[in-house]
Amino acid sequence: MSPKNSWMNGRLVPWADSTIHISTEAVLRGGAVFEGIRVYRSRDDELVLFRLDDHMRRLYQTSLRFLQMPLAYKPAELAQGIAALLEADGVASDAHIRVVVYYEELTPGRERETETGAFIIVREGLAMSDGATRASLSPWRRMSDVATPPRVKASANYLNSRVAITDAQRKGFDTAIMLNDRGKVSEGPTMNLFLVRDGSLITPRVTDGILEGITRATVIDLADQLGIPLAEREIDPSELFIADEVFFCGTAYEVEPVIEIDGYVVGDGEAGPITTRIRDSYFAIARGETSAPTGWITPVRDL
Ligand code: PMP
Repeated sequence: MSPKNSWMNGRLVPWADSTIHISTEAVLRGGAVFEGIRVYRSRDDELVLFRLDDHMRRLYQTSLRFLQMPLAYKPAELAQGIAALLEADGVASDAHIRVVVYYEELTPGRERETETGAFIIVREGLAMSDGATRASLSPWRRMSDVATPPRVKASANYLNSRVAITDAQRKGFDTAIMLNDRGKVSEGPTMNLFLVRDGSLITPRVTDGILEGITRATVIDLADQLGIPLAEREIDPSELFIADEVFFCGTAYEVEPVIEIDGYVVGDGEAGPITTRIRDSYFAIARGETSAPTGWITPVRDL
């Protein structure tokens, strides 16, 4: 179902009028940064945002800060925009929110003075995970920290993701796994990656050319709570093909088992036991079935 409204620069706007000009830097060169945030309907039938503060921190402290991008709105104002939009659209079930900060039209030679704007859109549903993802190891590398840093959640970075997705889907896979500029495993086009070997979780380090994913941080915490050993270390591509379990994680993908990589069946070809434990505890916390660490869950009515 199409959304009814967006939030644009401080006000609710009907969906059909939610437009920006074709001359903006956002349209011409992908000049924008954004966050994807999940809304869950909790066990108590309440709408809650998952790790809102962490998403706002990444937007302001990493993306806007690195690009020296000014923004007229404070995190609390964007949060209130989210609440107003959810209310106006009558969202009552799980949804995915995008908060986007974009560059308006620029004047050549005066790039640093380019004005910015912000908008928020919400989509109900958006379940990306189907529990059985087939991935291909991409010949295309993740862009490196000395080109366009992957830890900055910039819209233009997703051209690199699209190149990998296009290649993978052309070969008949659902998605891709990308290596970094040093030839070590980095991440998927829009998700972080974990392997299981000998009962331990392994995930690339934040310095291995990845987005510093909030779901990744959640999984690291969950593993600690569940007593599952975990290492953040460089991963060789060959480890992908011998791992007992592999899963992607991200706001849109949640926790998604990878069952095949380039024709190699992962484990038994279905979600493995550690992936399943992590996935179950992720949903239990997100939906308020078990208590979450402080700051992870923000009821929309509290905004
Ligand atoms: N890597 C990339 C490239 C992504 O786009 C995303 C989605 N934001 C992730 C990882 C997962 O990050 P998060 O868990 O914060 O959504």
